[in-house]
Amino acid sequence: MVTIRLTNSKTRRKEDFVPIDPANVRMYVCGPTVYDRAHLGNARPVVVFDTLYRLLRHVYGPDHVTYVRNFTDVDDKINAEALRRQKAGAKGTLEDLIRERTEETIAWYHADMDALGARRPTVEPRATEFIAQMIAMTEGLIASGHAYAVEGHVLFRVRSYKDYGKLSGRSVDDMIAGARVEVAPFKEDPMDFVLWKPSSGEEPGWVSPWGKGRPGWHIECSAMAHELLGESFDIHGGGLDLQFPHHENEIAQSACAHPHGDFAHYWLHNEMLQVEGKKMSKSLGNFFTVRDLLDQGVPGEVIRFVLLMTHYRSPMDWTAEKARQAEATLRKIAEFLGSDPLTKPWVDLRYAKPPQEFVDALANDLNTSLALTLVSKYLKNMEEMNLVGALRLLGFYTDALTETFAPFRFHAGDNGVASGHRMATLGLDARTGDLLAKWGNSLFEKRQRAMQTKDFAAADALKSALIAIGIEVRMSKAGVELVPGPDFDPAKLEALQ
Ligand code: AMP
Ligand code: ZN
Repeated sequence: MVTIRLTNSKTRRKEDFVPIDPANVRMYVCGPTVYDRAHLGNARPVVVFDTLYRLLRHVYGPDHVTYVRNFTDVDDKINAEALRRQKAGAKGTLEDLIRERTEETIAWYHADMDALGARRPTVEPRATEFIAQMIAMTEGLIASGHAYAVEGHVLFRVRSYKDYGKLSGRSVDDMIAGARVEVAPFKEDPMDFVLWKPSSGEEPGWVSPWGKGRPGWHIECSAMAHELLGESFDIHGGGLDLQFPHHENEIAQSACAHPHGDFAHYWLHNEMLQVEGKKMSKSLGNFFTVRDLLDQGVPGEVIRFVLLMTHYRSPMDWTAEKARQAEATLRKIAEFLGSDPLTKPWVDLRYAKPPQEFVDALANDLNTSLALTLVSKYLKNMEEMNLVGALRLLGFYTDALTETFAPFRFHAGDNGVASGHRMATLGLDARTGDLLAKWGNSLFEKRQRAMQTKDFAAADALKSALIAIGIEVRMSKAGVELVPGPDFDPAKLEALQ
């Protein structure tokens, strides 16, 4: 069996991955807070951990991996958004509006992440479905002296957990000096963080031993991970921005609530994404969502490819140039996969498997950039079985690739027969197909005539006109091939005289 090696944030070392139970490998990844569209940075952990999920399924078997990624649907940002809508005149109670907002956001999230080729996790729990477990865990922490209730709040007593700060390598005193903590008069210690907080009249709340209130963010993940994966599980993932305080707090809560378990064995963090060398931010005007890119016509496969070009532990830069490169490579792959030699009867792509060197590249701490280099090698060497096997493991569906990227081709051969395919998926209508056939046949005839008369002027003029409207023109002894390129403009084809 392949040995997967992963860089464990907990030990800061690359380690052999040894699952607790190879028959059920368990992974928890912190999911989105569902109040708005996912931005491009949010897509990074989705694609990184989807790649790991696929690798685990490949190595341990598809039925032997449990992947949990939550939806945080209790959060002040969601409440604020619902309140804003209510003030803007939206109908319904605040609770209805919150529900509406989270449902809508979850549907968007699914659609956007599906477009990136990310498999849905095995379980996608919503925080609101696990409030009882959060309350129970909080009660347990109070009973064991790790938490205290005060003024409707419950706070975790950070100094009661001696290993606090180990994951991020900070001491409690450094953290206080860093002053990233909220000071409140009722806290015993400024480091203590909220497990439960009171809800005012208009805020969503649940009945609890401490009055009507709602859970803090950190306890949500601890309770859901425990309920769905147990006291000890294999991998916990998320973006590096979550390492402190979110993950540190998850560990403290879980370790103290379940002293016989040891929570997650391997902690994985993806580095952050920036755009054209700058942090993504609304004020810099370089903030965009996955949906914005999809709407601009950037295919999900291109986004996935660019995200995989950089190793997950390195900061990455989204650039238009990288998207262009990724698109060009995917186009070449699709052209190759869509070309005729692949219909050889002895090549059955259902049996395509990723080559060992390819699996080894991914198993080495998810070396996705090496994996993509290998993909290019298989393409160059025309090793279609290796290429298809590798692409599938990386989460590229080859049928979808040929649909999205393979060009519509018009052939006019020596018998003058026209053939075309994939018109609809390229957004080309039948009228455009007819026009392409008309001009392809015309070019073919002009060229045949020119061969006899040695006057190529008419054929060359038509060829230039077609190129000018974004059509690639390939001429060979066998005939003429017209391939509309990315800049093809059907309206200009219509106007061609
Ligand atoms: P949030 O909804 O903000 O909690 O984020 C959801 C996930 O996206 C978390 O795993 C974050 O760490 C991750 N994330 C947010 N911004 C970025 C970014 N710019 N680059 C990479 N990951 C990010
Ligand atoms: Zn979490």
